[in-house]
Amino acid sequence: MTVAQVIIDIPAQQTNRPFDYEIPQELEDIAIPGVRVLVPFGCAGHLRQGFIWHTVDHSEFSGKLKPIAQILDLDPVLNSEMLSLADWLATDTFSFLISCLQTMLPSALRANYQRRFYLNTPLATDDPLNTLLDSDDSGLIPDKIEPSLLAEIKRLERAQQLRIEYQISQRTKIKQEKNYTGILKSAEYEQLRGHARANAVQQIQLLTFLSVSPSFSGNLHSWVTKLPELSTATLNNAVKKGWLKSESVEIYRQPESGSVIAPKQVLTDEQQAAYDAIIGAIQQKQNQTFLLEGVTGSGKTEVYLDAMAYALHLGKTALMLVPEISLTPQMVERVQSRFPGKVAVLHSGLSVGERYDEWRRIERGEATVVVGARSAAFAPLTNIGIMIMDEEHEGSYKQDDMPRYHARDVIQKRAETYHCPVVLGSATPSLESRARAQKGRYQLLRLTKRPNDIQMPTVNIVDMRQAKKVSGKTDLSLKLIEEVKQRLDKHEQSVLLLNRRGYANFVMCRDCGNVIKCPNCDISLTLHRDIHALKCHYCGHQEPIPNECPACHSHNIRDYGAGTQKVEQEIQEIFPEARILRMDVDTTSHKGGHQQIISKFGRHEADILLGTQMIAKGLDFPDVTLVGVINADTSLSLPDFRASERTFQLLTQVSGRAGRAEKLGEVYIQTFNPDNYAIQLAARQDYETFYQQEMRLRHQGGYPPYFYTILISVNHRQEDQAVKKVYQIQRWLQPQLSPEAIVLGPTPRMITRVNNQYYYQLIIKYKNEPRLLAALQTLIMKMQGKSSQGFQLRIDREPLQFM
Ligand code: ADP
Ligand code: ZN
Ligand code: ZN
Repeated sequence: MTVAQVIIDIPAQQTNRPFDYEIPQELEDIAIPGVRVLVPFGCAGHLRQGFIWHTVDHSEFSGKLKPIAQILDLDPVLNSEMLSLADWLATDTFSFLISCLQTMLPSALRANYQRRFYLNTPLATDDPLNTLLDSDDSGLIPDKIEPSLLAEIKRLERAQQLRIEYQISQRTKIKQEKNYTGILKSAEYEQLRGHARANAVQQIQLLTFLSVSPSFSGNLHSWVTKLPELSTATLNNAVKKGWLKSESVEIYRQPESGSVIAPKQVLTDEQQAAYDAIIGAIQQKQNQTFLLEGVTGSGKTEVYLDAMAYALHLGKTALMLVPEISLTPQMVERVQSRFPGKVAVLHSGLSVGERYDEWRRIERGEATVVVGARSAAFAPLTNIGIMIMDEEHEGSYKQDDMPRYHARDVIQKRAETYHCPVVLGSATPSLESRARAQKGRYQLLRLTKRPNDIQMPTVNIVDMRQAKKVSGKTDLSLKLIEEVKQRLDKHEQSVLLLNRRGYANFVMCRDCGNVIKCPNCDISLTLHRDIHALKCHYCGHQEPIPNECPACHSHNIRDYGAGTQKVEQEIQEIFPEARILRMDVDTTSHKGGHQQIISKFGRHEADILLGTQMIAKGLDFPDVTLVGVINADTSLSLPDFRASERTFQLLTQVSGRAGRAEKLGEVYIQTFNPDNYAIQLAARQDYETFYQQEMRLRHQGGYPPYFYTILISVNHRQEDQAVKKVYQIQRWLQPQLSPEAIVLGPTPRMITRVNNQYYYQLIIKYKNEPRLLAALQTLIMKMQGKSSQGFQLRIDREPLQFM
């Protein structure tokens, strides 16, 4: 093959077209698909990074092609499965290939990089690489490198004399430790010491040490620090002189692993039935999707672990996706304790370097079990035996930026390649998945009770229209506060949910009714008392809390709508002795913040955990016997056809946090809509009835899962431009649709202006539109990049959010 078709990273003019480059002869066996290259692009010939997509014998431009300037990888970073996955992803999500390819890789392999070499054994004096590598044992490889030297590097790497690492900064440097081994006999070291010059203090120290322990092997650095004079240079010198052998060993930066022992449980009959079905599919190599619908605490995770163990037992690998927020140390330790040494963990809390190291462990086959959040769907596992997605209804599985993929679709696609089952698990499956199970496309497996006769919590609804409130605290019913008090007295724990962060929702003038809004967005500012500021939750704008109304200068301004900060303060006033932890975006934004709060609560160092929906998942604490929902109506009032589904899911999940062990759990839901079906059915933990009822409403309204949806959104700095463009798109698209397709809009988005950009949108509802997807592909290629003229276009297939 002499021509490489390269997908190039050219931000200004996106296209999915590969560009042809000549492969220099010396690079022929290295320049293969999936390898990253640098190629000259544009008239200036600046080097750009790209991926070899295909190699071919001939190009229509043959003879006029520029050669590849550099090869960045000695082995492909993406194998053929991943390359075809990228191809599918680009089409399926209306994305650029380059963004798909980059999404699949850890960021350390995406951005600007440096190549660093580490020599495991010194080079021979006549080695051609001596001219290139200017240091004894490690250093940067220059950007410009002759192909013959590259081939030499590759030879040495294969012989394990040298290793190459890519880094974007110091942080992604491979972590290495030098191992030194004595290779001479004690007497020989003695003799060398005798010959050493008297002023060679360091050498003498080293030789003294070696004569005492000639077969020393290990990390000399601890020893070096005890003898400060002994420098790395002395050691290197000793290696050169043949007194010592040195060898670099890679140390992986591993996320902390803990000590939770999670013994394998004897499965209940229901669990066993689910397990049998799943391992049957693993064994038969069936590409079957299972929907494991199991009430909270019914032991779904136990089924996943056993099924993964089975896949491993067959010599295969296993992938388990969980929502970011459930990736708690508790959860990770549970997996690690079942598969010691085999687990790689991928989540956004890792540093760039940690993430890269985990990726490498998977890629090299050293980790055969992967647990991770959304992007772990692209983990470079091969020979996959099972793929699991826990809490499959979670919105965080959908990526909000290009490529706008849903991890569920990605693992189902990969499962086709590996002929393996996919298990989607939830106590509250998404309507889409549950409907597919209804149709028989997924196989439904049910866990209806908790093991060991542990009871589901009892749920009570508190009607806030009538309930007595704590005086001066309109958000807290006496009933809920009494329950909290009982828990405090019994030394049990309470979890309180309030789905609104900050201190107050908005600030309003009582004289003129003016609400203080963000200058950049069409949204009111939220009061944050801790930082004495009003904050915009959309663009991050902050301003001081005013003491008079900006419109009428009245001093009669007040805050409305309690957020987590205010409720925390109120509960503290009621129970001055209670230890309260608050968990929301503001208290968890620093690295590890979320985990710290959970661990603290888990050690029972607090009595009350108050937080936004992030408390609803993954927590499993035996001392929690009360769950209170301060305001169940927040999520109900969203103008979104999924508002009821989200409310039902949230209430069911948060209720599931109560009474996970022997002690009975109780739940109190405060609401102004006590008769709403989503709240009623969540209180009864009755998913099936909710599903039936909600499906009827979706059918009447023509919503998913009865229709597919696509959201087309345009934004621009000038409102009239955005409006014009979206009408133009509509006029162009309409003739390509069948009469059955429903086009909603153009309409302004609910929050029309964010960060001074105006958003207008179209929603297409359809069942079968053979021409639609190709038309949208054309649209995105046309409107993105160079010719975009300040417009941004977003095409979101099966969007989870319409705002
Ligand atoms: P889920 O994933 O459905 O929320 P888990 O797998 O976390 O449920 O199980 C909830 C609790 O029940 C855990 O503490 C787990 O150890 C325990 N458990 C699960 N299966 C069994 C079983 N078969 N026998 C005893 N305890 C079990
Ligand atoms: Zn006013
Ligand atoms: Zn704003």
